[in-house]
Amino acid sequence: MAQVKSIKGTHDILPNQTKDWQELEMQVHKTSNLYGYSEIRTPIIETASLFNRGVGEETDIVSKEMYLWEDKDKSIISLRPELTAPVVRSYIQHNLGGQSPLQRLYYIGPSFRRERPQKGRQRQFHQFGVEAIGSANPEQDAEVISLGWDILKSFGIKSLELKLSSIGSKSCRENFKSELVKYLNPFIPKLSEVSQRRLEKNPLRILDTKNKDEIEIVKSAPKIEQFYTKDDQNYFFSVQKFLNDLEIPFKIDPLLVRGLDYYTQTTFEICSENLGAQDALLGGGRYNGLVGSLGGKDAPAVGFAAGMERVIIAAKNRKKISPKIPTIYAICTNDEAIGILQNSAKQLRSIGYKVICETLRRSMRSQMRDANKSNADYVMIIGDDEFNSRTIQLKDLKNGKQEKVDLEKIISYFKSLTF
Ligand code: AMP
Repeated sequence: MAQVKSIKGTHDILPNQTKDWQELEMQVHKTSNLYGYSEIRTPIIETASLFNRGVGEETDIVSKEMYLWEDKDKSIISLRPELTAPVVRSYIQHNLGGQSPLQRLYYIGPSFRRERPQKGRQRQFHQFGVEAIGSANPEQDAEVISLGWDILKSFGIKSLELKLSSIGSKSCRENFKSELVKYLNPFIPKLSEVSQRRLEKNPLRILDTKNKDEIEIVKSAPKIEQFYTKDDQNYFFSVQKFLNDLEIPFKIDPLLVRGLDYYTQTTFEICSENLGAQDALLGGGRYNGLVGSLGGKDAPAVGFAAGMERVIIAAKNRKKISPKIPTIYAICTNDEAIGILQNSAKQLRSIGYKVICETLRRSMRSQMRDANKSNADYVMIIGDDEFNSRTIQLKDLKNGKQEKVDLEKIISYFKSLTF
């Protein structure tokens, strides 16, 4: 029969990879909690219109990459392509704003986009992120950036670069947009088909181009900072000041525009040089317009999303952080002793030892081979002699020392060891 394989652009995370994932998740929980953020979990499927409204119909994410289908009741359902819109939906639906003037939220989970798969770009990928909803002040932007920075650092990524920009207020952006279009108009014949389309629908995205000729054209385009209002400018300076106070280095990148419509003021990205073309680990910004545009009472907000696959690739050579759990491999060569060994294993687990019990009833030799392979610290063995004398053989695999211990004393023996 033909073998069924995983769908293009989706990946299994295999047993030899999951430790990294668990450690990253643990770091996200730990650091977010240290900053006073609480976890929120929302469904993977949502009404598609949430993303049309919350992300924007003109964005690639919604116009080209969303997985959606008509359900039996004719409603249009989609797999979430990101989590900001769902988190804001939930914030509004459960009146979280009414419970506290500032909600500090974080999430971990899969997102889906039907993109062309390549290294660091998948159709199912995983994100962690935070959303702080309620504060309109620049220290909130700095706090969110600092939290993302700390998570990446604590996971052992060394070469991080924070790129910072501001896309100003709505009026600033409108003025900038029309000047940008004026500047680009004479270049239309030289622009790619995609950029020609963007010129009409979302001209800011052209600044993000990867096309060499277009990069040259964009170099002399008007700059957003020429259009900042006094308030925009003060806000941006304050964010920079707070980042300096937090000793987080950054580079101002005026070409950093986010593809999503709901951003206002601060935008940022954290990149790593350990990645190839897809070097953005984390991207975010302020989105004061989103809560209102999804039907909630206006609330200022700032957040980011990070791609976990990319974070794990970037952290490939990091020092592992999880403490080693002492491990015992339990070998049995007398079938009558299986239950006794399993019971000892259960007691040892209750005092924090990892115990692997043989269930294949193999020869002593193959069991020993497995014990060595599993990187165990000790083996405990019950054969015929041990079964008859109610003892257990213990072998320290680090130094090869072996001794016989009474079955009753096994727990106190291991309790007295230090690791
Ligand atoms: P975005 O929601 O587009 O701002 O993306 C936030 C982060 O998610 C990016 O910086 C990437 O690290 C990650 N990301 C976005 N799209 C993908 C994808 N298709 N595959 C893997 N990671 C992705």
